[in-house]
Amino acid sequence: MTSQLTDQTITFDGRAFINGERVAARSGAAFDCLSPVDGRLLTQVARCTEADVDAAVAAARTAFEDRRWAGLAPAQRKRVMIKFADLLLAHADELALTETLDMGKPVKYAKGVDVNSAANCIRWYGEAVDKVYDEIAPTPATGLALITREPVGVVGIIVPWNYPMIMAAWKIAPALAAGNSVVLKPSEKSPLTALRLAELALAAGIPPGVFNVVPGFGPEAGSPLALHMDVDCIAFTGSTRVGKHIHVMAGQSNLKRAWTELGGKSPNIVFADCPNLDRAVEAAVGSIFFNQGESCNAPSRLFVEDSIRERFLEKALALVPQYEPGNPLDKATVMGAVVDQTQLNTVMRYIEAGKSEGAALLTGGTTAEPVRGGCYVRPTIFAGVKNDMTIAREEIFGPVLSVLGFNDVADVVRQANQTIYGLQAGVWTRDINKAHGVARALRAGTVHVNQYDEDDITVPFGGFKQSGVGRDKSLHAFDKYTETKTTWIRIDSPV
Ligand code: NAD
Repeated sequence: MTSQLTDQTITFDGRAFINGERVAARSGAAFDCLSPVDGRLLTQVARCTEADVDAAVAAARTAFEDRRWAGLAPAQRKRVMIKFADLLLAHADELALTETLDMGKPVKYAKGVDVNSAANCIRWYGEAVDKVYDEIAPTPATGLALITREPVGVVGIIVPWNYPMIMAAWKIAPALAAGNSVVLKPSEKSPLTALRLAELALAAGIPPGVFNVVPGFGPEAGSPLALHMDVDCIAFTGSTRVGKHIHVMAGQSNLKRAWTELGGKSPNIVFADCPNLDRAVEAAVGSIFFNQGESCNAPSRLFVEDSIRERFLEKALALVPQYEPGNPLDKATVMGAVVDQTQLNTVMRYIEAGKSEGAALLTGGTTAEPVRGGCYVRPTIFAGVKNDMTIAREEIFGPVLSVLGFNDVADVVRQANQTIYGLQAGVWTRDINKAHGVARALRAGTVHVNQYDEDDITVPFGGFKQSGVGRDKSLHAFDKYTETKTTWIRIDSPV
């Protein structure tokens, strides 16, 4: 299951990682891992099923019960987590190249954003874990009530393909730092870096069995994990459709804690009094086309006030050529390949829907071929979009921007909130009352004011409504992976 790239000195190993060892799927089955960059076969990947999930969960349970990791002092886990983060950075070139070949993002961002951000996340939770104090309740003199946090146990983690390392890090880092054991199922479209993360964790000193990876398909490897009676918590990032199923499976089995980070159709509202039109244009265009539009928080519905819309669109169109898809392995490329042919077909179907429902295609709308055999879509902008059109309602997860108009604050807030999602939103105005008022009225987990691209590990990330349940990042994420225990102690005071 290994293959040597002819033009790179990198070897992929697609076997699962269970109890500290690389293993083939118990059935012996494997699937082809193709690169969207040029269609090449990268390697074969273990096609895990219930038997492999059972083995991984058993290893995680044993590791948790014998307290080889959970029993360490937080300061000891911290040291290992920091070493783990350092190892990511030491392997930055290899990880970035793997991510690029596996899911198509430009190598410049795979290294500068994805590897750095994943390493920073792991370091941050490592550094945080010995600074979180337990509590004592204000109890009567005859008693003492300790309120302590304990790891929840075995955590199942299922992640999507758009930021494979970052999505995994947002969950494994707080879960591991808190003392849990984890079983991670990466997306079948981009499984390779997750497997390397587990190897680097072991090398850093995270004991065997604490961090396991079972690659495979959703129904075959993901469902057994979500349904498993010995998994205490399932943390999922992916589509709203599958996320709903995750909550059902959690409830049907052992009522495991279920946390979901799901889809989005985020509104970005630019008022005529926006403080810097050029910056608003750059952010609107840059944020939808970053990562080929494959970002859950992409501001895919752009509302521009009628009086400035023409000028705004002129400026936006002037920026589009710099997002022409290029070879993701070229360090100058800013727009790479979409993840696979299936996703490319989905994006193209949405573009057709936009045209047939009467939106005006201003630019793009076609595929490109900067590298033969790859999956590339040109940056696409539709104007004249109405909120009830398919391209304004459904998450496209591709480089497609829908521009809508408005001329009234109450109306744009109503339109912005008229969605099943509530992940993020943007507001651009120099009027402080309007900024605060609209930010409060928007039903979204994060609202950006006069910028769209700020992000930091210190702030929670997650959605209202059908964008999911729970928050990743920040100290709030510890809540997902710990149980709260009260210990009452009676005091029979002799004095
Ligand atoms: P997806 O829901 O198809 O798959 C996500 C993961 O779930 C994959 O690992 C997949 O194998 C697994 N899966 C699929 N069917 C399953 C089943 N029946 N049981 C268990 N697991 C199953 O999503 P995707 O296409 O990989 O990712 C794109 C989606 O992820 C978008 O909707 C995007 O908005 C969302 N996303 C959300 C966030 C966030 O933080 N809110 C971040 C990134 C991506």
